[in-house]
Amino acid sequence: MSQAAMVEYDAGSAFRRRTDEESQLLDRLRAWRRQRIIERRAPSQALWLEVVGSLPVLRGLEPPQQQALRDLSTLLLHKVQLVEVADVRLGERDVWSLAAQACLPILELGLDWYEACATIVVYPGNFVARHRYRDEVGLEHEDVVPLSGEAWDSGPIVLSLDDVRDAGAADGFNVVIHEFAHKLDMLNGDANGHPPLHGNMRLADWTSAFTDAYADFTARVLAGEHPDGLDTYAAESPAEFFSVASESFFEIPGRLRRLYPEVYRQLALFYRQRPDERLG
Ligand SMILES: [Zn+2]
Repeated sequence: MSQAAMVEYDAGSAFRRRTDEESQLLDRLRAWRRQRIIERRAPSQALWLEVVGSLPVLRGLEPPQQQALRDLSTLLLHKVQLVEVADVRLGERDVWSLAAQACLPILELGLDWYEACATIVVYPGNFVARHRYRDEVGLEHEDVVPLSGEAWDSGPIVLSLDDVRDAGAADGFNVVIHEFAHKLDMLNGDANGHPPLHGNMRLADWTSAFTDAYADFTARVLAGEHPDGLDTYAAESPAEFFSVASESFFEIPGRLRRLYPEVYRQLALFYRQRPDERLG
C-alpha cells in the first residue's frame, strides 16, 4: 500500500465528512447499480400488468406509480432470499404478486425502509409456531399456535402461500402488508406500534391517535362487538393494532377512516399515501 493510500485509511480521514461532490458521486453510483439490477431482473411488461391487474388493492395506481412499484419489487427480490419450505414451488406470478404487495407500503418511502429484510420463508399453508416464554413466577411455557405469517426482529418474514394468494383482494386481510408493517415497526426497537416517524409528523399526535383508538377498540371487542374497518386481531397488542390497521389502510381505507379518522390520518402521513382517494 502506498503512503498516500495509507493516509486515506487513517482513522481521522476515514471518518471525515464527505464533500458534496463525493456524496453526489456515490449517489450516482448507487442509482447506476440500481438501474442495472432493474434492467436485468425486472419482469416483462405483460407479466407485470397481469400481476397488477390481478390485485384489487393496487387499483387506481397511475402508470408512473405502477412503474415505481415494479422497480421497488425488482430491487426487493434482488436483495432478499426467498426460501420455499416443504412442497412450495413459487410460480412467477406468486413471486411478483408477493413483492408488489410487500412494496406497496414503501412506495413513497423507498427500499431503505426494508434494510432489515433479508429472508422471506414461504410455507404451503398455515404453519405451527412454537414460542417459549417465562411467566412472572419463572415457569417456562410453550405456546403452539397455527399462523398465516410471522415477522422476526433481525430475522426472516415467514408467510403461508395460501394466505399470500388470498391477499390483495381489497377485503381488509393482507398477510404480506401485515408482516412487512411489523418490520417497519421494528426499525426503532421492539414491535410496539411506534415506527420511526417523519420530520413533519408529531409523536404526540401519533401516540394520542393510536392510544385512544386502541383503548376504544379493545373495549368494544371485549364487549363482543366486531367494529367495521378492523379485524378483531388488532386488539391483541399495540403492535398488532398497527399492523392490522396498516392492512385496513391499504385494503379498505374508507372503512378504516370512518372507524378511526385520526389513525387513518397518521397512517396517511406515515406511508405518504391516500389509498381512500385511489380506491374510491
Ligand atoms: Zn402480527
